[in-house]
Amino acid sequence: MSPLRIAVAGAGIGGLAVSAGLARAGHSVQLFDRFDAPAPVGSGLVIQPVGQVVLQALGALEPAKRHGNPIQRMMGHEARSGRRVLDVTYAPRVGLAIHRAALFDVLMNGALEAGVDLQTGHEASEVRGSFLRFADAAPAGPFDLIIDACGAASPLSPITSQELPYGALWANVNWPAETALPQAQLRQVYRRAERMMGVLPIGREPGHEALRTAIFWSLPTRAYQNWRDGGLSAWRDEALRLWPEFQPFADQINDPDQFVMARYAHGTLKQVTAPGLAHIGDAAHRASPQLGQGANMALLDALALIQAVDRAEGHVPVALQWYAEARRWHVRSYQAISHLFTPQYQSDSRVLPWLRDRILFPLSQVPPLPRLLTRLVCGDLLAPMPSLDRESFRRLSG
Ligand SMILES: Cc1cc2nc3c(=O)[nH]c(=O)nc-3n(C[C@H](O)[C@H](O)[C@H](O)COP(=O)(O)OP(=O)(O)OC[C@H]3O[C@@H](n4cnc5c(N)ncnc54)[C@H](O)[C@@H]3O)c2cc1C
Repeated sequence: MSPLRIAVAGAGIGGLAVSAGLARAGHSVQLFDRFDAPAPVGSGLVIQPVGQVVLQALGALEPAKRHGNPIQRMMGHEARSGRRVLDVTYAPRVGLAIHRAALFDVLMNGALEAGVDLQTGHEASEVRGSFLRFADAAPAGPFDLIIDACGAASPLSPITSQELPYGALWANVNWPAETALPQAQLRQVYRRAERMMGVLPIGREPGHEALRTAIFWSLPTRAYQNWRDGGLSAWRDEALRLWPEFQPFADQINDPDQFVMARYAHGTLKQVTAPGLAHIGDAAHRASPQLGQGANMALLDALALIQAVDRAEGHVPVALQWYAEARRWHVRSYQAISHLFTPQYQSDSRVLPWLRDRILFPLSQVPPLPRLLTRLVCGDLLAPMPSLDRESFRRLSG
């Protein structure tokens, strides 16, 4: 196979992974990002067992594990009743909670070691034939393949998405010595579906020794200004009323700007390819992080595209077709399930959280549902792509 000339727009999770894999396979990869210096925004996320398989294939799992924190279980309870309403175990596998900057570092090192040519300060604006055009630089090309990995606001993707009414505030704080919460759990507390708060221990940031924790606070996006105007002490009072154990985490917040407001949208691109062009990650599908699958989906897309180019022996139209088919059902199913789950945890509905607490949670504890829920969260309720059936994924992810 003669090496392809490949452009990747967007050096986020999907873009870095696909660039590293394709460069390692011998292709010439130019990776463009609009940032001048890498500065991954955001807090922590969970690399599910399916995402860990992709990291392993890229040689990035061990370094990621050195930064991250293994999560064995996700627990949630209703604030007023104290009733347990979420309990999903990963056993025998684990989720890998990790700071976004740590994951970025690991993937970036892998891409640079593989020989990827990173070009910063390039804001992609359009794909014209085999050329990638930029807002503020001369077009680049021609390329055999252009990959859109620009994330949720990609200007290269025709995706239409619907902004969700609820988002969340995210911040990173130290893991407090005085907490009794277990470090191997993601903990959430709810008041109906209008409030969700949580604690996710995410391991270490690059260059720091302290153990870090992502904390989140869900609220309607329209209420963000009110939250700021209300002041931190009102927020703190409400948080501690709902969840007294949150105190050592809340005590570390003394400026509202420690929180970043994340807005969520839902949408799925019907056709993830066009001649010479593939969309991956959030540029192809967006969902709320309720199921914790977004980064994993981007990683799986990257692996499917790397395998597609390899299988098609460099014949780009065949590779694009295989890539689109390989990921279609896994993506669509998870998008639909995420669409269904989100309003149970983030909405103004009174009925849905009632159903969640009184009917769905008790049902979810009846075999075989716990096992199915574990697989849903791990990311392999369905085979993520045909080359790797569910059994292989589960074997590879321990
Ligand atoms: C608060 C929050 C929590 C989340 N938690 C989880 C979780 O627990 N588990 C999980 O799996 N997922 C989670 N997600 C989702 C996950 O972060 C995304 O799905 C994932 O980052 C998508 O990867 P990506 O490569 O498509 O895009 P990104 O990682 O967003 O990368 C996009 C890159 O493109 C660059 N870019 C953008 N526009 C341009 C342009 N025009 N030209 C050039 N470059 C451009 C950006 O600078 C960025 O580097 C969460 C998301 C949020 C917001």
